[in-house]
Amino acid sequence: MNSGCVEEIVIVGGGLAGASAACILAEAGRPVLLLERDAEPRHKVCGEFLSIEAQTYLARLGVDLDGLGASRISRLRLVRKRGATEVCLPFVARGLSRKVLDEALLFQARSRGARIVRGEPVRSISVDRSAAQIEVDAGGPIIADSVFLATGKHDVRGVKRPTANTTGDLIGFKLHYRLTDDQQRALQSFVEVILFSGGYAGLQMIEQDIANLCLVVSRQRFEELGRRWDPLIADMADECPHLAERLQGAQPLYTRPLSIFQIPYGFLHAPDESEPQGLYRLGDQVGVIPSFTGEGTSIALHSGCLAAAIHLSHGRASSIFHHRVRSDIRRSIRLASTLNRVVRHAAGQQAAFHLSRIWPDAMRHVTTLTRVQEIAMTRALTAS
Ligand SMILES: Cc1cc2nc3c(=O)[nH]c(=O)nc-3n(C[C@H](O)[C@H](O)[C@H](O)COP(=O)(O)OP(=O)(O)OC[C@H]3O[C@@H](n4cnc5c(N)ncnc54)[C@H](O)[C@@H]3O)c2cc1C
Repeated sequence: MNSGCVEEIVIVGGGLAGASAACILAEAGRPVLLLERDAEPRHKVCGEFLSIEAQTYLARLGVDLDGLGASRISRLRLVRKRGATEVCLPFVARGLSRKVLDEALLFQARSRGARIVRGEPVRSISVDRSAAQIEVDAGGPIIADSVFLATGKHDVRGVKRPTANTTGDLIGFKLHYRLTDDQQRALQSFVEVILFSGGYAGLQMIEQDIANLCLVVSRQRFEELGRRWDPLIADMADECPHLAERLQGAQPLYTRPLSIFQIPYGFLHAPDESEPQGLYRLGDQVGVIPSFTGEGTSIALHSGCLAAAIHLSHGRASSIFHHRVRSDIRRSIRLASTLNRVVRHAAGQQAAFHLSRIWPDAMRHVTTLTRVQEIAMTRALTAS
């Protein structure tokens, strides 16, 4: 990294939001520097469920999900205690690990001419009326005309999100498993949403016959269980024989689950007139939708593509982007946050499960209403 260099556009964070913006900007011939904290590809806490909207963006950006071996998911099974109910999804979803997916998108950005520097955490950012100053470990500050903040759930000093009013008491976990052949067959083409005391889990196949178990649990429940993974899984399996059956004889593929604390579900960036121009907030930095919707990645991709398109036509006028993206994702985040509050509690879980039994299409409606709408996608895709 050169010390004290001057750049036109710097993207901070090489997840789906940052890499998608890098693809569009580089494709249009703009000089882009992307700084990614991690030196190597790594697993991330995520259910790894790709909705049809996420797939549309990924296809536009050149990512070949078939070539990467993504699984196909056409049905949803809702499981609670000893009961289960099923419905067809309104689309065929895909399952692919974030380690493979994020790398494939970064590859697309690089091949379009974006400069990608890995192992470079940004320490702080300050933005004034004319430029942004980005502090990194190696060398002096980078001065950028515009900065795209795409650091996911991690805040950066100087540009932190105000997340005080969000649901911050949920903890996310993820672990990949090799299931027995019988259980793999039983899970094939399903995403299973499992409701349990204090949280919910998603289980589905991804590439190479791997199953992903991803869950969120309240901090209180996790503390009651001694703040340890094994008792948590044992307790869930006790409550839900279906999960016990799935995990019987399963081999965990890493020694400990990945975890993430204080997920600010429901966060939605509120544009403010005093906010400096030239700072574009993408992905989880602009809005965090509860995980059970499986829509976080499409919001990340939508915001990345839309921000790049607006930058190409309006330059540093980031407030245009923030107003637009807020109106595109507000309804989904609000509805999902309300449902998230409901399914965290036993009575809410029971009511949701009962409703889905007597009216299975309710689940289909939820999966439709919490998605990025087609009109918003068309705007982002045609502009880019
Ligand atoms: C439990 C859980 C389950 C989920 N399941 C699903 C699902 O099944 N389907 C779905 O669509 N969505 C799901 N999501 C949501 C989805 O994972 C996120 O919305 C999505 O990853 C956001 O993308 P992003 O690019 O904003 O952030 P990220 O993917 O987190 O990428 C941010 C990048 O920035 C880098 N970074 C961070 N700080 C710095 C720094 N200071 N300097 C440089 N780089 C930095 C990180 O290393 C990372 O690579 C889930 C989320 C959770 C918590």
